[in-house]
Amino acid sequence: MKVCQFCGFERKDSDKKCPSCGGLNSTIAELIAEEEANIEKYSFKGRCKRILNAENSKDAFFHEVELIKSGLTNKGVFTIFLIVAFVFALVISVL
Ligand SMILES: [Zn+2]
Repeated sequence: MKVCQFCGFERKDSDKKCPSCGGLNSTIAELIAEEEANIEKYSFKGRCKRILNAENSKDAFFHEVELIKSGLTNKGVFTIFLIVAFVFALVISVL
């Protein structure tokens, strides 16, 4: 538990906003760490890592493709699909 720096209300570590006064309690370091986690999550590297760590890499791969697709235009999808498919083919041939 942490204490709100504005009103002293006890808040959960995961709460960024104080449930009592609504004050933002994240430190800059926390915000940077969160931002980096997000970048990692949506980066190509992060996606590959998730695919490789998944029990069923094939399903994970298609899941990631769906996620990428939902956030991109058709042209972007095609480009990323080519890149991912190429890397995936390399990974499969190595395994
Ligand atoms: Zn507060």
